[in-house]
Amino acid sequence: MKVLVIGSGGREHALARKIGQSERVEEVYVIRGNEAMAKEAKVIDIAENDHDAIVKFAKDNQIDLVVVGPEQPLIDGLGNRLTEAGIKTFGPNANAAQMEGSKDFAKVLMEKYNIPTAKYKTINDKAEAIAYVKAQGTPIVIKYDGLAAGKGVVVAMDDETAFDAINDFYAEEDAKVVFEEYLEGEEFSLMVFVNDDFCIPFDTIAQDHKRAFDGDNGPNTGGMGAYCPVSHISDEIIERTNNEIVYPIVEAMHKEGLNYFGILYVGAIVTAEGPKVIEFNARFGDPEAQVLLRRLETDFIDLIEAVDQKQPLDLVWRNKTICGVVLASKGYPGNYDKGTVVKGYDYQQDYIVSALKQVDGEWVTSGGRVMIALGEGLDLAEAQSNSYKLVENIKSDGLFYRTDIGNKGI
Ligand code: AMP
Repeated sequence: MKVLVIGSGGREHALARKIGQSERVEEVYVIRGNEAMAKEAKVIDIAENDHDAIVKFAKDNQIDLVVVGPEQPLIDGLGNRLTEAGIKTFGPNANAAQMEGSKDFAKVLMEKYNIPTAKYKTINDKAEAIAYVKAQGTPIVIKYDGLAAGKGVVVAMDDETAFDAINDFYAEEDAKVVFEEYLEGEEFSLMVFVNDDFCIPFDTIAQDHKRAFDGDNGPNTGGMGAYCPVSHISDEIIERTNNEIVYPIVEAMHKEGLNYFGILYVGAIVTAEGPKVIEFNARFGDPEAQVLLRRLETDFIDLIEAVDQKQPLDLVWRNKTICGVVLASKGYPGNYDKGTVVKGYDYQQDYIVSALKQVDGEWVTSGGRVMIALGEGLDLAEAQSNSYKLVENIKSDGLFYRTDIGNKGI
């Protein structure tokens, strides 16, 4: 098979590697990819938003399967375009991708089908929003109703933060903002491979670290590190999540005619009342993909084929714990410099790269999240210790990382 991966970050690096490990795969291409993937895939210089060129490339090169990594191309309808051109594409159509693209869309669906989540109100008017927050009080969670790459969410613990967020979000014309009840508990990420009314939920969950700094402080990011499995979240909670959230949402999407084909990421939180939904995403988590795919033994093509044919499949996992620590450019998720030299990286398999390129024979940064160091061990403590050893082998003035990835599970 010839497989094309769309995207350029760490998630796509992990996908390209995992897909390339399948004996059934003869060639992996990545659009647009990054230079660190070059030893594992053919990196093709086409922009992710150039759908015409992507469809043409897929046809010209007789691609058998396209796997779309990021949400933006899905929301923009790349899945529709490829499917219409007769190319098998793993990634939901534009309408179904609203599960991620619109917080309000997902909330309305959850309300209609009684799926446990935070109480909410969607407000289009700033004055009404101010009155609402005054009446509800803080803490409150404020989410911009559109794609914001994990950064359009403000968890306001006090009034000042809440009103700052309101000022910020309603500065956009026609802003639509979702206000949510603040939920307390431990979060986890569950990936579900969905084909319309059928699904295969991962039976290994992962835990991300959304905040920029140690102790879950600082702004929300795309994710600063992850590990799997999450042994301290019980099988009973996972079973409840499947029964109360996963199967009902798959049925709901089917009844609504979304015809979802791809990964549904369930961001959940364990509250006193049981698991509740924090968010859905229409694709693999990043950095969850990096740790989960490192642990998954099952052939990725076999998995997609099983989902495609609606055949149940028992997933096989390596008997290892994986801990991934993200190295990010100083300043991320705000403004940061690019072009900082990074030493110590030379295509080693223990690193997965999001944003590095080569200039004059040296690796330099080209984005916010730069790379993830993947340590593994027989338990989380060993995996964590190994991942930080790998972090220390990377030398750069321009990078920072959290020092507590995995602590919650130890
Ligand atoms: P989201 O993009 O919706 O996942 O939100 C990003 C992060 O904000 C989540 O991973 C949570 O840490 C936090 N968050 C979102 N919604 C809530 C909520 N209702 N209660 C508490 N924290 C939340």
